[in-house]
Amino acid sequence: MSSGQRNHRFTWGMRDHGKCLCCEVTYVAVGPPVVVAQCHCEECRRLSGTGHTVGAMFSSDAVSLSGKLSQFSYLSDNGSQVTKAFCANCGSPIYGKNTRIPDHLTLSLGTMDDAEGLDIEVVIFERDKQHWDQLGKDVISFATQPDWKPEG
Ligand SMILES: [Zn+2]
Ligand SMILES: [Zn+2]
Repeated sequence: MSSGQRNHRFTWGMRDHGKCLCCEVTYVAVGPPVVVAQCHCEECRRLSGTGHTVGAMFSSDAVSLSGKLSQFSYLSDNGSQVTKAFCANCGSPIYGKNTRIPDHLTLSLGTMDDAEGLDIEVVIFERDKQHWDQLGKDVISFATQPDWKPEG
């Protein structure tokens, strides 16, 4: 595997391991992810306690989780149901799901042990970005959520 390779879509057989702060929840995701996105929506801001979340979306059957999770659900602006799952013990945000994109879940990139090879591909809900949060250079950014669905 060449170290200069930036596009994770061509990295086959990769496996991302992750865990929460207290190590009770662990997961393995068999990659590559569908997309890695940074989200500045108000819900992600409050969820994270900081400016945005960064998540890697996988097909649900590519991810195996263990440990006790708590969930919180709410309705998004477009009427879909969003569910956020946290470690029931330490509260680390582990993944989010959206009924708009069924059979997929988005793992919090910060819970991965080693996100080697994963780069942020898109920024969404940039309109909600706080003045104290910074955007990376050369990112594709959308004011809200692009009308986009994973292929296959
Ligand atoms: Zn935990
Ligand atoms: Zn968000």
